[in-house]
Formats: sequence, C-alpha cells, structure tokens
Amino acid sequence: MKSAVFYGKHDLRVEERPVPQPGRGEVLLRVMACGVCGTDVHIFEGDQGAADCPSGTVLGHEFSGVVEAVGEGVSAFAPGDRVCVDPNRLCGECRPCRDGLGHFCEHMTGIGTTVDGGFAQFCAVPQSQLYRIADGLSFAQAAMAEPVSCCLHGIDLCELRPGCRAAVIGGGMIGLLMVQLLRLSGASFIALLEPVEQKRALGLRLGADAAFDPLREEPDRILRAAGRLDTVIECAGLPSTVSQAVAIAGRRAVVMLFGLTRPDDAVPVRPFDLFRRELTIKASYINPYTMGRAVDLLNGGRLDVSSMLAEEIPLARLPEVLAAPALRAKGKYIVLPQA
Ligand SMILES: [Zn+2]
Ligand SMILES: [Zn+2]
Repeated sequence: MKSAVFYGKHDLRVEERPVPQPGRGEVLLRVMACGVCGTDVHIFEGDQGAADCPSGTVLGHEFSGVVEAVGEGVSAFAPGDRVCVDPNRLCGECRPCRDGLGHFCEHMTGIGTTVDGGFAQFCAVPQSQLYRIADGLSFAQAAMAEPVSCCLHGIDLCELRPGCRAAVIGGGMIGLLMVQLLRLSGASFIALLEPVEQKRALGLRLGADAAFDPLREEPDRILRAAGRLDTVIECAGLPSTVSQAVAIAGRRAVVMLFGLTRPDDAVPVRPFDLFRRELTIKASYINPYTMGRAVDLLNGGRLDVSSMLAEEIPLARLPEVLAAPALRAKGKYIVLPQA
C-alpha cells in the first residue's frame, strides 16, 4: 500500500509498505480521507515540543474510511461500515485517566503521531477509536471530526452563556469552526478578527456579525464597534494576537488561548490589568470526551466544514504541501489516499 512515512526533519517519503494486519480488537480501515493539520507541519519541521514522533511512522491523524476487515474480538463494527477515527487513545489505567482527565494520560497513543496513521491506503485502528458517520456525510467532511472535537473542548472551557458577546481572532479553519460553535452555543454577537479579506467574508457567511482587519484597525476602535466582549477565542497562536485577545476582552471575560504558539513564545501581561477587569485566561488541550458530540454535529449537518477546504490531493503531493506555507494559507488540505 502507498504510505507517507516520516523519517526526520523535512524528510517525508511516500513509499510502499505491507498492508497491516488488524490485531485483537482492531479493524483494518481503508482510509478514504485524511486532513493535513498544523501538527503534521510541526512534525515535518522538526519543531521542538511537537508530538513525539518516531522515525518510520506513517503520519495522519484526522481521518475517515471504510472498515475493510475486522480482527479477533471486534463486535461493534463490520466490513463496509463508514467511520471516522479519534486518534488519541487513552490507557484508562493511569491516575489522570482514572480522574477523568484522560487527555493528560501518561501512556497516550497518538494514531498518526506516535503510531502509524491515516496518510496511507490502510490503517489498523482499535475499535474503541471508531465513530460511525452518516450516509450523507462525505469522507472529507468526516475527516474534520477530530479538529471539531478539539474546538468543542475549547468551547466547553469558555463556559458560554446564551446571549454572550464573543470575538474570534484568526479566520483559518479553526477560527471559522469556532464562529459556528459560538453561534450554536447562543452567542448574541460574534466578531471575527482576520487580515485576509476572503476569510472575513467567509466568517460573515458562517455566522459572524462583524469582521475586522486587525492589522489595519486599532483594538480601541474594534472594541467601540463590537461593544463589551464576554469571550475572546484566540486561534492564530502568535504573541501579538494573544496580547490583542487580552486587550479587547471585557469585564469578567474569559480569554481562551486556543491557537498553538511556539514553545518559547512569551507574552507580557500586566496583572493589574487582569485584576481591574477580573479576566480569566484559559487554554485548551486536545479533545477529551468530545469526539462523540463532534461526530453528532457533523452527522446532523450542523456545521459547514467544506467551505474552508482548499483542495483534495493524492498522497504523492503531501510532501509538497507540508513544505509550502503559501499553499497551506489557502485553506485546509485533505489527502485522498485511494486517489
Ligand atoms: Zn490535527
Ligand atoms: Zn492513561
């Protein structure tokens, strides 16, 4: 089978590998779609602090497909089932797992980051990681379940109340999912801060009430136009946008730091400034217990996960896309391993 294998910094090779055998409790999945994620880029770039990815691993953790065969002891799935995958497998036995904090599992397995994933024609996946997808959902849409589940965890931590006023910084795929989830959560006003005009236009179409170019407009002006903000969700992951998120937050607001900064980035904060507004600064890590709801939202047609897709590509083009920020700026790429 064709597979995209990580060998080290800037060394991703598309090569032939034997089709894996599903072990006990595993299915063999024919991978139909697999999203290209920022995490894949961090691994490709050899960034310190990115997932601990051993050389020789097949990347790809946002994927969907059809069950091709089942291993011993698989009861819940059968060949032909259409499914998507939660790539984060918890051990269930360590202290964080037993405390209901499974995303801090001390023995986490990451399908597509620590073990072979979905940038291949087939992947062996434990049945515990599978979710059924609706007939009307495309495989490319279903591959977005994992990023949606991460956004849901962030939204849960924001403790939104119906009628709240919110801002999202960054109109990439994640920011545009956040806009839609804020709308579903009952926000009465949503502002999108994004420098690229097409992304602002898309944000307005997907539920934002106002869109600002943060490079051209001052925070004060944005605030005057947006009014008091109860929630600010930062999805750009830059020190400057983190500072901006704190600057525009209203009294008693929650500032959610969702965008991944570099490990050594630092942002100056004046505690007195937080004190005067009773600000709460939060962060969100992966997708604990939110995958089922993400799949339900997608199966129910409640989210647009198609408008922000740039292109569907064959496996052979993956190294080129990982190496080219200008391509990725166009939107989300989906690999079709069977193409
Ligand atoms: Zn991802
Ligand atoms: Zn654990």
